[in-house]
Amino acid sequence: MMFPIDIADALDRANRDHTIRLKARANLVGLVKALFDHQDRDEPHISDTGRCARELWADLRDLHDIEPDFKTQLTRFDGGHLMGAWEASLLKEFIEAEYPAYTVYCEKELEIDGVVGRTDFIVYHTATAKAVWAVDFKLTWFSKAEEKDNQRLQVSTYAAAAGAPVASIFLIAPSAYGAKPWYLQSDYSVADEMASVERELRRIKAAAFSETMPDGDPQESWRCTTCAFSACDRNRNPRKPEYGAPITEETVVVL
Ligand code: SF4
Repeated sequence: MMFPIDIADALDRANRDHTIRLKARANLVGLVKALFDHQDRDEPHISDTGRCARELWADLRDLHDIEPDFKTQLTRFDGGHLMGAWEASLLKEFIEAEYPAYTVYCEKELEIDGVVGRTDFIVYHTATAKAVWAVDFKLTWFSKAEEKDNQRLQVSTYAAAAGAPVASIFLIAPSAYGAKPWYLQSDYSVADEMASVERELRRIKAAAFSETMPDGDPQESWRCTTCAFSACDRNRNPRKPEYGAPITEETVVVL
């Protein structure tokens, strides 16, 4: 099988090719417009995989009330989007130059089991219109490059939506030094992940469309320290405003 390829090697070669960098720059301009085009929504997206059920439920009802710190917004969210878009643009132009039988789409809209999403990067065999590889680009400032379960679940869901047999995460940790790896590529067989993907799609749909506030089910402790839903009694976000007594489940349902 042609894909997955070694992404670090491809980025290295793309970076040394002036023509590829120029084409990647043009692609990036279009991507940035799409990335910063915020749209209100009331349905779950593929990007919601891995989120706490209660936090997702509250978000879709516009109940999040803690604004992110600007440093978090700039470095974690905006920075991640920009870095990923540039990597995707370089890799797209490299693949289309090196493997002319394939076409790459960035931010392509996909749907699986009634849940939609836009994937970072998907490769199709042009003649057969068959998807062959999905990639998610991730950025972390807090540790060595090490993929997370929810990241694997998310990229596998995008790949499954397109019908691609293989998915990869390419993670960069610019702050890692010494013996710590600062980038990591992890490849997955989508068939091996399908049971988890189907279970996760059922979970996020149940949370999103629940008539009452679901229980929180965060898989990682950081979710409660960064959560924007102050009314949850488990919220430990240091930016949480003083709101007196915790809001009860009944109060939130009325809201
Ligand atoms: S505080 Fe924790 S349990 Fe509560 S909604 Fe947020 S992530 Fe979920």
